[in-house]
Amino acid sequence: PFECQGKHVTVAGLGVSGVPAAKVLHGLGAKVTVVNDGDDARAREQAAGLEALGITVRLGDGDTLPEGTELIVTAPGWRPDKPLFAAADEAGVPVWGDVELAWRLRKPGAAPWLAVTGTNGKTTTVQMLAAILKAAGLRTAAVGNIGVSLLDAVLGEEEYDVLAVELSSYQLHWAPSLRAHSAAVLNLAPDHLDWHGSMEAYARDKGRVYEGNRVACVYNVADKATEDLVREADVEEGCRAVGFTLGTPGPSQLGVVEGLLVDRAFVENRQKNAQELAEVSDVRPAAPHNIANALAAAALARAYGVPAGAVREGLRAFTPDAHRIAHVADLDDVAYVDDSKATNTHAAEASLAAYESIVWIAGGLAKGATFDELVAGSAKRLRGAVLIGRDRALIREALARHAPEVPVVDLDRTDTGAMLQAVQEAKRLARPGDTVLLAPACASMDMFANYDKRGDAFAQAVRELGA
Ligand code: ADP
Repeated sequence: PFECQGKHVTVAGLGVSGVPAAKVLHGLGAKVTVVNDGDDARAREQAAGLEALGITVRLGDGDTLPEGTELIVTAPGWRPDKPLFAAADEAGVPVWGDVELAWRLRKPGAAPWLAVTGTNGKTTTVQMLAAILKAAGLRTAAVGNIGVSLLDAVLGEEEYDVLAVELSSYQLHWAPSLRAHSAAVLNLAPDHLDWHGSMEAYARDKGRVYEGNRVACVYNVADKATEDLVREADVEEGCRAVGFTLGTPGPSQLGVVEGLLVDRAFVENRQKNAQELAEVSDVRPAAPHNIANALAAAALARAYGVPAGAVREGLRAFTPDAHRIAHVADLDDVAYVDDSKATNTHAAEASLAAYESIVWIAGGLAKGATFDELVAGSAKRLRGAVLIGRDRALIREALARHAPEVPVVDLDRTDTGAMLQAVQEAKRLARPGDTVLLAPACASMDMFANYDKRGDAFAQAVRELGA
């Protein structure tokens, strides 16, 4: 592992990754300085805690490279175009993110990583993967932005056989030496482009997850961009490309998931080596995008050598997190579904594709997105739409262009009580057999603290309606 003793390490950014990184590095004998842009009350409190341990903290200036710095460990969210990194570059100082640090601090013979990235579905897939690995009797954890932190998983007392690791594009950007056992890119749609600078740069960062893979690069047959990343990756000799697909794999594809039951058609047409692993009904919710997530998880687990039976058992044991296509209630033969986690158009597109006749509740902060493609693709499934939040006019205009016959209720309010009214309006528009779907395609922060609170408000409103 990497030798910290006596090294001058600058930690860039307080917060969820910076504070634990500073403590770990300090504990390993590094001379740590933390730099942070802000100096608000929260930052001062965190700084005081670190200073009490003997760590130097500079608040209010995240862009001056401290004298003598030999290594920067940055919060993953810090943008590559920040002046601090230009200064580091000039001085020949390497920059690592939290993931790189965890990777370098692994003990000899430590658990290999099965890594998952993609624009949407990461958390779900990693949790499914962990459930499958557990069903196979392996000591494992879902780590990354969820559950156990990577540093804890790598340095803690708990022993693991293998880790299921969720990685964001930011984290991958700052993780140059990471080498996973096997990795999956689930899908690629424009997101965080302001940070990465361009779609190409975003894709390149995602593609890093495949670098040096030993056993399998898992990609999405339906998403050519993920296959391209596999082709470009520099992998270990003998590493396989494994595509997952909801359809029948074609002969020209790089590889297919050996032995995956995808649907009945696939079983009937299955290729010589195919083996049934699970039923669609083993996957909850059985929406197409979620079956794709299950396939990716199964492919990674199989790459690790997990027996077929554990795939089915693990998928059955898996319970989705809250606010991800969560069925809230049925009222008067109308289903109410909370997909508050659909914070971008790509995610909303997936959940809109999962239902036949929908009253769609949408809106919030658009983050620069456009809605034409989403609305045009979903128009025929929309019974109606109820719009909330700051940027709802963008969705209203897209509806007017591509679905002029769909009735739209535009709620001109952003207070938290708006959700109850939105659900009431949706109920009014819905017919028996319909689904009222909260899939906002937008971030929540104009009206709520986060997507969790938005989903809770929806569920609460549905309960009030049913009472
Ligand atoms: P992430 O960790 O990548 O944000 P989650 O598993 O938390 O992903 O899901 C986020 C949102 O994306 C959910 O709203 C879900 O409905 C949607 N989603 C999940 N999997 C996929 C997928 N494979 N393709 C498109 N959208 C998806």
